[in-house]
Amino acid sequence: MASQSSTTDGKAAVVVGGGIGGLTAAVALRQVGWRVTVLEQAARFGEIGAGITLLSNGLRCLDAIGLGDAVRGSGLPMLAIGMRTAAGRWLSRIDGDGADLEARMGTTTLVIHRAELHKILRDALPDAALMAGVATAGIYGGEDGGPSEVGFRVRNQDALLRADLVVGADGMHSWVRAQRWPDAAAPVYSGSTTWRAVAPTTPSSAVTEMSLSWGPGTEFGVMPLVDGRTYWYAAANAREAQRNPDELDELRHRFGTWHEPIPAVLAHTQPEAVLRHDIYWLPKLDSYYRGSVVLLGDAAHAMTPNLGQGGGQTLEDAIGLAAALSRADDVTLALARYDHERRARTQAMSLAATRQLRFGQQLHNPIAVAVRNTAVALTPDRIALLAIARYGRRIPPAVPHAARRSGRGVGP
Ligand SMILES: Cc1cc2nc3c(=O)[nH]c(=O)nc-3n(C[C@H](O)[C@H](O)[C@H](O)COP(=O)(O)OP(=O)(O)OC[C@H]3O[C@@H](n4cnc5c(N)ncnc54)[C@H](O)[C@@H]3O)c2cc1C
Repeated sequence: MASQSSTTDGKAAVVVGGGIGGLTAAVALRQVGWRVTVLEQAARFGEIGAGITLLSNGLRCLDAIGLGDAVRGSGLPMLAIGMRTAAGRWLSRIDGDGADLEARMGTTTLVIHRAELHKILRDALPDAALMAGVATAGIYGGEDGGPSEVGFRVRNQDALLRADLVVGADGMHSWVRAQRWPDAAAPVYSGSTTWRAVAPTTPSSAVTEMSLSWGPGTEFGVMPLVDGRTYWYAAANAREAQRNPDELDELRHRFGTWHEPIPAVLAHTQPEAVLRHDIYWLPKLDSYYRGSVVLLGDAAHAMTPNLGQGGGQTLEDAIGLAAALSRADDVTLALARYDHERRARTQAMSLAATRQLRFGQQLHNPIAVAVRNTAVALTPDRIALLAIARYGRRIPPAVPHAARRSGRGVGP
């Protein structure tokens, strides 16, 4: 078996998972002088056909690694945003120009196609740093209190990757977490399921603003993307793993009588574009690192999507990890700092997201729904959005560029 050691120039990291978190971590780690290999189990690096909203905190993280402008160029800032009933009555609404919304909400909200965000991150990495179609087989060494070098075995590659750090960025059902946190509780089903798609827009279904509409135990959100496409999602209370033979047909049945543009958007969606996922959240971990193995993103703190912060927190983790590693030569010390800086915030966010789910989409008792809608309608717009917007205020730590710090280039 060959042994690939990449510790000759700077420290080396193996990042498991080539999603938004893994790629952002790889870009940031390279910038602080680490050599990085990203392992992805899928045959190709890519993302699903859905949109993602990013508040300012997520965008600032992308700015920290020099990719913010590219993301702004491919995303659409929201000019208006609001909450509605199934019949279309506005419960709250903020519109105006983008600057007005930003000033009143206290944060930018940008919507981008996931595949486009993913491509921007991927293009910031050399091909040599990316390995797809990888079957992870084992992590060796790097335990608490032992030598810090950690070996990583890949089943379909005749190689043992040696590194100073393994980053588990492999999502909610993380294999890395299962290896090093065997005592961790499994993700918990939230009681809600979700459908998502990107629809090509036609004049009759033009969506110009982001809105989220509530019915009893259901929610439907629409938001425009660049080029006139619409990203939409639906959510409903449901049994775990329940599926329909034709999901789009089911959605047209459930939401066909809701206010426009929902029926029109569904009418213009292709059946094969509809994605369905059940929603889970991960019970709190007692630490985000063990020895030389660290978790980030959904692997560390998968949360329900109700604050639109899962991705934002993942980006914050990636930048926070690279910044911590740039400030300390000792990896364990850096991981302890990362854990300290990230765990409380992300676990509080996860709790808040679950509360938002219970108070929002999952509420189905007609009296409770009426009380909730009245409370939202009576709450001044700015206050209503403050709970979400305040998460956007976080300023990420700087990611000092190794080439600028040491005057030498960063290896592949
Ligand atoms: C319905 C829904 C809507 C959402 N909307 C938003 C939103 O609007 N805004 C927002 O900020 N967040 C949103 N989120 C949350 C956001 O999608 C996640 O927090 C984010 O994608 C987490 O990124 P990640 O890189 O940690 O994990 P993932 O995106 O899950 O990426 C993990 C990667 O690891 C790979 N992988 C898995 N196992 C292995 C293995 N053993 N070896 C190698 N590779 C492996 C996977 O193939 C994948 O590429 C939403 C989530 C859901 C479910």
